Amino acid sequence: MNTPVSVPDSVSPATAARLRVVLVGTQHPGNIGAAARALKTMGLARLVLVAPEDYPAEEAYRRAAGADDLLGDAPVVATLAEAVADCHLVLGCTARSRRVQLEEHAPRQAAALAVGRASEGGEVALVFGRERTGLSNEELQLCHAAVHIPANPAYSSLNLAAAVQVLAYELRLALLEGAVPTPAEPRHPDEVPASHAHMEGFFGQLRDTLDAIDFHKGRTPDSAMRKLRRLFAKADLNEQEVRLLRGILADAQRMARLAGDRGTGSLS
Ligand code: SAH
Repeated sequence: MNTPVSVPDSVSPATAARLRVVLVGTQHPGNIGAAARALKTMGLARLVLVAPEDYPAEEAYRRAAGADDLLGDAPVVATLAEAVADCHLVLGCTARSRRVQLEEHAPRQAAALAVGRASEGGEVALVFGRERTGLSNEELQLCHAAVHIPANPAYSSLNLAAAVQVLAYELRLALLEGAVPTPAEPRHPDEVPASHAHMEGFFGQLRDTLDAIDFHKGRTPDSAMRKLRRLFAKADLNEQEVRLLRGILADAQRMARLAGDRGTGSLS
């Protein structure tokens, strides 16, 4: 006789509520509806639309097939930066493997990471690109890591809503596994992970400082900035650490200004 397998059937609503799926520049409204349906079947409810090409549209509601509440609740914003400003972990789903200089995860690892971070109170985004061209390099740079579904390498691009379904299913499995959450240790307020907006502020200042100290020496800053973004993504900084680094940068900027003033004789 087979032993019945017990499948947990409840997830922590608070953790699930910290997971959002962001669709960037979606071209076919049907895919937006199908993505909403994919999320709702997996118990997820947060969809964010970045500059969809043709939306609102009837086709989206037709394909949502009863998940229209998710569509109705989905904010529409102009840029990916806006959609993830309050996030602590941003994962970019890409059909082309190894295209980007980002750490890359398979869906299962990515879901474990996402649910782990959300269960500690972090806001998490999974980002999906355009049907024709995926995510731009600039958009991928806003992501902490890439997610690639290890599909047939000779035909690796899934339909957008199908890719959302795969990731939503993995998120559900990870949520079900964590169904009995251990209460997280309360964090000291300074130890909260830095938000995406704070990290972007830091990267802007880092870029300016590197310019001010002539680090690039005429080369384009993009490649160095990509590597630095990757390095700091691995460091998983908290707000206090970002403040410390920004203090160092501010001093470096001040010293560079003084050195510049001396060079032009304005201190004499
Ligand atoms: N021609 C595009 C494919 C876009 S498919 C390209 O080459 O990038 C639309 C979106 O679905 C992608 O941006 C990605 O977010 C998701 N997607 C499709 N296939 C995927 C895969 N194998 N792994 C991860 N995401 C995938």
